[in-house]
Parts: sequence; structure tokens; C-alpha cells
Amino acid sequence: MHPPALTTAMLPVLHIVEAGFTRTVQLTDPPCTIGRSDENSIFLKNNEVSHKHAEVRKTEGGYVIVDLGSKNGICVNGVPTREHALKHGDIVKVGLARIFFRQLGSVEAPAPQAPTVDLNEERIDPAAVRLFTRNNALSWQAFPVEYHREARRLVVVMVDPTDLGAIQEMELLTYCNVEVVAAGRKEVLSAIERLYPVMEEAVEGARRQVPSAASEPTRLGMPVVTEGDTERELGVSRLVSLILEDAVRMEASDIHVEPRRDRVSIRYRIDGVLVERRSLPLDLQHLVTNRLKILADFDISEKRFPQDGRCSLAVLMREVDLRVSTFPSIRGEKVVLRILDRSVARMDIEALGMEEAAKAQLLDLMNRSEGIILVTGPTGSGKTSTLYAAMNAIRSTELNMVTLEDPVEYEVPEITQGQVFDNPRFTFASGLRSILRQDPDVILVGEMRDRETVQVAVQAALTGHLVLTTLHTNSAAAAIPRLVDMGTEPYLLGAGILGVVSQRLVRRICPHCKTVDRPAPDLLAAAFPGHDMSGATFYRGAGCDQCLKGYKGRIGTFELLPISEAIRGMIVAQSNASAIKTRAVQEGMVTLREEALGKVLQGVTTLEEVMRVTYAEF
Ligand SMILES: [Zn+2]
Repeated sequence: MHPPALTTAMLPVLHIVEAGFTRTVQLTDPPCTIGRSDENSIFLKNNEVSHKHAEVRKTEGGYVIVDLGSKNGICVNGVPTREHALKHGDIVKVGLARIFFRQLGSVEAPAPQAPTVDLNEERIDPAAVRLFTRNNALSWQAFPVEYHREARRLVVVMVDPTDLGAIQEMELLTYCNVEVVAAGRKEVLSAIERLYPVMEEAVEGARRQVPSAASEPTRLGMPVVTEGDTERELGVSRLVSLILEDAVRMEASDIHVEPRRDRVSIRYRIDGVLVERRSLPLDLQHLVTNRLKILADFDISEKRFPQDGRCSLAVLMREVDLRVSTFPSIRGEKVVLRILDRSVARMDIEALGMEEAAKAQLLDLMNRSEGIILVTGPTGSGKTSTLYAAMNAIRSTELNMVTLEDPVEYEVPEITQGQVFDNPRFTFASGLRSILRQDPDVILVGEMRDRETVQVAVQAALTGHLVLTTLHTNSAAAAIPRLVDMGTEPYLLGAGILGVVSQRLVRRICPHCKTVDRPAPDLLAAAFPGHDMSGATFYRGAGCDQCLKGYKGRIGTFELLPISEAIRGMIVAQSNASAIKTRAVQEGMVTLREEALGKVLQGVTTLEEVMRVTYAEF
């Protein structure tokens, strides 16, 4: 059933906005003078104005705005003018005021040919979505999809595009000219549910429970959530669990709850990039922080020193492991929650994204009974996942597999996992020595951090143990001089090392909005020097509500340097990294850069992304 079609054709309306004051004038009997009254600064239509700036006149062709000699003249849609035939959607600047001109009749009733959108295909601009609250969206049965800040234009999807009252309210709220497209009630309401999760209501709910600082001054600096405050606690705990649910749903790896000067910022790290998801009113900071500290079993009265710990919570019907830490910033405690992905513990070597040849080589190395295999790359490049995948590939009850981690993030069955402490009696080096007394076959050392660890690890590798470990270097070859710098004898290293994996994570193109792309010529030339790439097809994500700027998820990109006899000789002779790399390439090594570019040509990721994560390789 459609609402009745409009009969008042082309009814003109002016929204006049100045310094936050708004006034809506219907142009029923022009001319209408726009100017300043003596008693206030709002522009008026009638004869009360004392300083006339402009006038709207009715002509045969419609309405015309004429400058009456104001100091700075008038401006229509950014263009200075003396006289302008008004069109629906024009923005006129007169003095300090902005005037939105609308002809209400120009919004058509939803006839079969009325503009409609398929909401799945519509690209929804998050900046537009933020202009409405959930309550706005529900009460108007509408949500914004496009926001053109400069042009002050907003495209809104509405169930009832003839709801002029709602459109006027939207324009007043957003200071934009609203263009309406129609969509079915069901689609609009389900989009609102998706775009405006109940979080905002929860923020309001929690806020209502907050005692004002004025009424309870003694509580400042004290834990506000105490026993007995059941109702208040409920509001805040609901808000906190919604934040956790939202983060898990968005597949975030970290949640940052950070007090700022004017608000509490909530950011998620998604696919390696921090994104501000929302902000909370500052008065919720203590409550939310305390709630998180209670969940992590921290001392909530301790605010001056950092705390860290972990906990498991039920989020979205599944158990989620969190590593929680606090940091006392000058604006209060910042809380960071790392969401540990249990699937990493079961990581399969097939799922890493390694090319067949490199994977086969790595498995071959993993099946040796002694030596060191190194995984290198910057922090957050997926080294841990690769180590676990490698361990899982050879896991067996016939092997004694022991790890030394800082800290243990993922629990793996059938493996003995140890965790170093901030204590000289249990460091990587001393822990490694005690593991060696426990008859190990495979040892995973979280990180080669110091000289002593490197020396014990090499010793272990030379005495019948397979050692897996990580190092921070940019390329596989660079790991070798680094280990020598850290105090290994080159001849011992040459004898002990089996291979080095170097890796990065690249963001995948979102499958929902993947589209053909034409990278900039200089980018192509830099990535494929000397190659004619005119026949290749490149892709990017256009951006949709399923993804973040056209990317969704990440995949590893790898370089595997197996230590051949020739390279072993070069290590002993202390050749530099680039000579070792050159030799490895001659022996068939696919470099990180080549492998990543292969993923670009397969349409898995973009050239920009590969440039971003492998810049050190170029
Ligand atoms: Zn997408």
C-alpha cells in the first residue's frame, strides 16, 4: 500500500540556518525578503528585517533569488552571483547564513518507476551512516548511504520518500540537501539493524546509570561499580559485552579503549589496520575500564601501574580468549584487549597461503631430525601462525615437542608449552637449557632475543634437536648476518641452520566488491621493471559494507631460503646478505616480492598492498 501521492506540486521551502539556529520558511506568497532583524541574528522572511540582503521572487519559470546589495553578495552552490533561478537542492549563502532551497513537490510518490535501490549492491558510506543515530534511522525509517561533504549533499534510502516532515528534519539535523531513494520496508529495517547495532542504545542505557560527578564527588578516582549497584552494573556490562561482540563479529584482532580529552575512543585492529569504530561519552570511561578490569581479574583499585592478564569469555555463543592490558596514560587508563584466535593453534600449513613449491620445501625441512628453521618478518606478520602450522604438520605422539613462549597465546594439544617470565630464573636461555634436560625432539623458541638464547639454540640444533624460532629481519637472507651479529660462530651457524622463511601478511581484496583496476603507470613500472604489463588484469575492492576499504581478511606471502651446500659455505665465509640472496635466487628461490606480485596477478591482493607491506624489499 502506497501513501497518497503528493498533490501540492512544487511547494517551495527555505531552510535557513545560521550559527546553529534554524528556521523553515514556506514561500507561499513571495516576494520574500531575507535579511537581518534588529533583535536577533536569524534571517526572516517578513517585513521585520532591517538589513535586507536578498529577496526570493516568483517568476513564470519558478523562483529567483536576487542580491539586494549585501556586503559580500550572495553565493549559490559556491558560485558568487547577483541573481539565480533557484533549483531544488540549491544552497545559497547570504552573509553568515546558509539557505537550503527545496521544492517539496519534486519528491515523487513511490510509483512503479520511482527510484529504488538494491541495498546489497548499494555502496554504503560509513561517514554517511554516522550522521544518523539509530533512533533517527528507526523513527524516519531511513538511513543515509552517500555523503558529499563539500556539496552538503546526502543521499538517503527511505521507506516512504513522501515523508516530507522526516526529510525536513534530516536536513536540519545534517545541514545537507537530502536526496531520497526508495526501498522496501523490510530491506530498510534490516539494513538499519545491521548499520546501527543496538550498541548505541546500550551506551545511552549505561549512561543513564552514571552518577553525575557533581552528585557524587567522592567517587572520583574510586571504583564506581561496587556491589549493590546491580542496575548500573547491568547497563555497563551490557555495553561492554556489545563492544566485544561487535569486535568479534568484525573479526578484529585487538580492541583499544582509550581515554581522550573529550571522549573515550574505541578502536579495532582489523586486518592489521586500526579503525575507530565509535566513541563513548567521557563519563563512561571509569565504568567501562572497571568492567574490563573485573573481567580480566585485575585489581580495580590499582590505576597508577600497568596490569596485564588474560581471560576467556563467552562472546557470541563461543569461547573467546583475551589478553588484556592496562596502561596508565595521563588521561586515565588505556585498556587494550587482544582477541586470541583459537584457530591459530590448529593452523594448517595448507591455510597459510604458501605456494606449492615453498610448502613442499618447508615440509621437507620440518621432517629433518636436527637443525634450526627460522621464521622472520616484522611484528604482526604472521610468524606465530606459521610456526604452529609447521608444528601441527609434524605433530605426533612419537615426538616430544616443547615450546618456550612469551606468553603462550594458543594452547596446542599434545605439545608441552612453557612461558618465560619477567624473571632471570626463567628466561628464553635458561628455559631452553632446562628443556634440553627433558629429552626433547622438537623445540619451539618464541623469539631469538639475545645472544645467550641464540647460542643455546644453535647448540641444541647441533646436538640432535629440531629448533623452530623467529627473528625480526626484513628478508630471509638478512637473518644470517643478524645471527652472527648476535654472537653465533659462523661455522656453527652454517652447520646448524636448515632454512629461513621470511613472510608478510597482505590484505585480501574483498570478494563482495572486487572490481577491475588500472594501477598507476609509475607503480606498475616500479613493481614490474622492464615488463610490459598491458595485458595483465589487476583488481581492487571498491569498498562495501562487508569490508574495510575494499579489503577483507589477510593471507601470508612467503620467501623460503633453504640452506644449500653452497650457501652453507657462504655463511662460514661470512658473505653478506645480498650475496646470499643472489645465490639463493640462482638456486631457484622465489623472493617475497615475486611471490607477492604473483598474488596480485592472481587477483588475491592489490599492487598498493604489496608495495605497502614489502617496501623494504623494493
Ligand atoms: Zn567489499
